[in-house]
Amino acid sequence: METAEIARRFLAYFETNGHTVVPSASLIAEDPTLLLVNAGMVPFKPYFLGQRTPPYARATSAQKCVRTKDIDEVGRTARHASFFQMLGNFSFGDYFKEGAIPLAWDLLTRPVADGGFGFDAERLWVTVFHDDDEAETLWRERVGVPAERIQRRGMVDNFWSMGVPGPCGPCSEIYFDRGAAYGREGGPEADENRYLEVWNLVFMQFERGPGPGKDDYPILGELPSKNIDTGMGLERMAALLQGVDNIYETDTLGRILNRAADLTGVRYGGDSRSDVGLRVVADHMRTATMLVADGVRPGNEKRGYVLRRILRRSIRNLRLLSGTDAHYLHDLAETAIDAMAGQYPGLRTDADRIHNVIDAEERNFADTLRSGTALFNRAAERTKAAGSAEFSGADAFQLHDTYGFPIDLTLEMAGEQGLSVDEDTFRRLMQEQKDTAKRDARAKKLGNADISTYARLLDDSGATRFLGYTDHEGDAR
Ligand code: ATP
Ligand code: MG
Ligand code: MG
Ligand code: MG
Repeated sequence: METAEIARRFLAYFETNGHTVVPSASLIAEDPTLLLVNAGMVPFKPYFLGQRTPPYARATSAQKCVRTKDIDEVGRTARHASFFQMLGNFSFGDYFKEGAIPLAWDLLTRPVADGGFGFDAERLWVTVFHDDDEAETLWRERVGVPAERIQRRGMVDNFWSMGVPGPCGPCSEIYFDRGAAYGREGGPEADENRYLEVWNLVFMQFERGPGPGKDDYPILGELPSKNIDTGMGLERMAALLQGVDNIYETDTLGRILNRAADLTGVRYGGDSRSDVGLRVVADHMRTATMLVADGVRPGNEKRGYVLRRILRRSIRNLRLLSGTDAHYLHDLAETAIDAMAGQYPGLRTDADRIHNVIDAEERNFADTLRSGTALFNRAAERTKAAGSAEFSGADAFQLHDTYGFPIDLTLEMAGEQGLSVDEDTFRRLMQEQKDTAKRDARAKKLGNADISTYARLLDDSGATRFLGYTDHEGDAR
């Protein structure tokens, strides 16, 4: 079953069951607390919080999502994409657990000929929050899942929160057993690779408010009503329904992956290191295309930095795969547009603009690498001529400041020549520059003009740390 058909079926099922079909919102979140939409419920947040009255009591959507936290998982697990689509059904104070649980089960197990997904019920496992007797009873008595395929899990796995202040609640998840070839027996508690999480039913009942710590948002109390928010991963469903090993081999991502293999002359399935590289490229080129389509432009901050980071990671991986510095992004963005246009026809009309943005960034980064590499080589020779094995922090800083060389790249290139890098000095110089910039800005009461596109890439904490250069290998960490 094609990806587009899975989405269509999901929406049609819930529409038949009284839900209003709501189009996906842009990846650029209206919610100021979020950089990018990371779940299907995000556009509905004000309804759950009771801040706005929903125009419908039930809704369903296929929402575009980007999870920056999952970028480092891409290609290494079978199930994490940086861009993915979340299918969902939502109840705003209408049905609660007793409605959501049977609906989900029916859609998954209903025969394909009757509009369902035709899963074998025996291969489905469910989890519930550790004290949620109500949900467990519904699974056992209303749906008929045997007790041995129901597991109870704690806050980390079965209490869903946005990651920012907002609605939250205990959840119940559905997993598909891919079989002994994929790992250990024992349900999702034992092995989340074998038991693939496909659908999360969240019982939105509480609210988290602003908290003292960055990631610590205390539960304020109950929401005005009891709601349902569910999220099914479209790419994961596609992997299961298309009988492939992982989401990167499905009809959409697989197309980009195959193109990347053709262009670089690398055979997919030949070597685990290059397989990870190809998956990363496929995933990242799709994500970049979708981000640009929604109006994100490469930059040094926030969303722009997410985009820049994944584009550079793609370029870096393509160079390692092909052993050349040929430009492949245009071709791969074109493939991504082709792969996604069935679901998002606007991509075709927007293709020229998408290419312009991506091509410009590719040229930009190529220039960065070219000029920076010359300076790097001179500095490395000087270091060795002086009988030292340590690349100076001042040179690393200049590479960063003038050429926008991320420190990870300098570290990697130095390593290739048997040199270490004086990172302490590098960081001190970075800090001094920041302090000076702040003082100047205060003095002028004006923002400090950004003289170089690539300067200050690594500013502002580890949150936006560029990991692309160390992240290629499947097991580098
Ligand atoms: P996992 O534990 O596998 O990382 P999750 O628990 O973080 O998933 P949820 O927040 O519950 O995921 O999101 C709801 C659904 O969205 C998941 O059940 C899954 O099907 C899908 N999903 C989540 N993250 C991704 C991703 N990075 N790529 C593809 N699908 C995803
Ligand atoms: Mg996750
Ligand atoms: Mg999970
Ligand atoms: Mg989950």
